[in-house]
Amino acid sequence: MSASEKELQEFRAEVAAWMRDNNPADPGFLLPQTFMEVGDERQLEFLREWQHKVWAAGYLGMAWPKEYGGGGVDAVFQSIADQEMRRHGVPICFNVIGLGWAGPLINDIGTEQEKARYLKGILNAEDVWCQGFSEPEHGSDLGNAQTRAVRDGDEYIINGQKIWTTMGNFAKYMILLARTNQDAPRKYDGLSYFLSPMQVPGIETRPIRKITGEFGFTETFFTDARIPADCLMGEEGQGWKIAMQTLQYERGAEAGAAGGQAMVRVTVDDMIKQLEGVKRDGESVLRDPVVRDQLVQAIMEEKAMILGDRRAHIGALTTDYPGSLPLSNKLRVTEMTRRMRQLAINLQGAQGALYVGDDEARQGGFWQRAYFNSFSATIGGGTSQVQANIVAEHILGLPK
Ligand SMILES: Cc1cc2nc3c(=O)[nH]c(=O)nc-3n(C[C@H](O)[C@H](O)[C@H](O)COP(=O)(O)OP(=O)(O)OC[C@H]3O[C@@H](n4cnc5c(N)ncnc54)[C@H](O)[C@@H]3O)c2cc1C
Repeated sequence: MSASEKELQEFRAEVAAWMRDNNPADPGFLLPQTFMEVGDERQLEFLREWQHKVWAAGYLGMAWPKEYGGGGVDAVFQSIADQEMRRHGVPICFNVIGLGWAGPLINDIGTEQEKARYLKGILNAEDVWCQGFSEPEHGSDLGNAQTRAVRDGDEYIINGQKIWTTMGNFAKYMILLARTNQDAPRKYDGLSYFLSPMQVPGIETRPIRKITGEFGFTETFFTDARIPADCLMGEEGQGWKIAMQTLQYERGAEAGAAGGQAMVRVTVDDMIKQLEGVKRDGESVLRDPVVRDQLVQAIMEEKAMILGDRRAHIGALTTDYPGSLPLSNKLRVTEMTRRMRQLAINLQGAQGALYVGDDEARQGGFWQRAYFNSFSATIGGGTSQVQANIVAEHILGLPK
């Protein structure tokens, strides 16, 4: 039976009170704005503790099965909890590769043994997950991945290299795409999918420094690393199909995700607020007619995105191009996010050139750091160009 309006309202009030009472104080060091920015142990432990607390309070994984650490209730409760997390500006739930991709995948197609082994640790943040898809020569061209997995008795021996492994240095498990058959007639058929442990001899990670000077991802090297054969998900040769299912989650199919915020959300309204006091030609920048035009444009785009998301959930309103909204969602959201942060800096005038650590930087350089980091999401999970191809070919039916 679905929840009554009154029940939902009461639940919202309960979550709001909890978030108010438990929103942690500023730790005195920079916190990641997205899960792709967890760069050191201090940040990791802070976020691990926060996610554990949210889960223990019952506000994470609410729609996942109870026997695996979830709440076993309707997904509408999770969506209310997520809204309240956003509204109260609490920290992110950082274990996103587990919560949003590996977890839903295991819930959907995993065996009972896999569910029992992995799901609870994802929710309570004990087990950090990472993703080993991209390789130095094979990012967009993922189907050509060359990391090899060779069966040897009860084990697979892994050799090769992955790159851009978000949280690779902290992870206990990796969703790993590796080639088990070099001679398959189609390159895709030679790939297999593993739920691989990371802490085994022969797996080494090296953090990569980003444009912000911070860390967040690694190179990951496999040298005769032996992992148990039961880490194989599905059958040998099904890796491509399972990887594509994973990318559906990664690119914004929210159904099945455990919930929690993956990134600090800011709105055009937040951007306007940070401009108070900024002058252009002796007057508030907010009175400049060109700036006002730019802001209205940003507000319209933001509104369209919100309404588009709502519309995507109403089948009868998407009959013209079914699937168009979810499929184009990643492209729209990530590009809009990047443009908005760029505008925020432009409108700061000369102060826009300052960065974190400069006393004069507006909001401690929040927008500058957010701008540099906003490129991450336009690349990770498929670049904007590749997303545009997907929209062109799969929605509009244009030729390749
Ligand atoms: C912050 C961040 C975190 C990441 N985390 C992970 C992770 O945890 N695990 C993981 O496996 N990977 C991760 N990635 C890697 C990401 O998935 C790849 O960077 C991405 O798929 C692009 O691959 P590439 O870097 O090899 O670029 P390339 O594929 O070499 O692309 C280079 C340029 O060519 C363009 N291009 C390529 N092919 C086409 C085409 N067919 N049509 C039009 N243009 C094309 C691209 O758009 C891009 O501009 C992460 C990346 C970033 C930035």
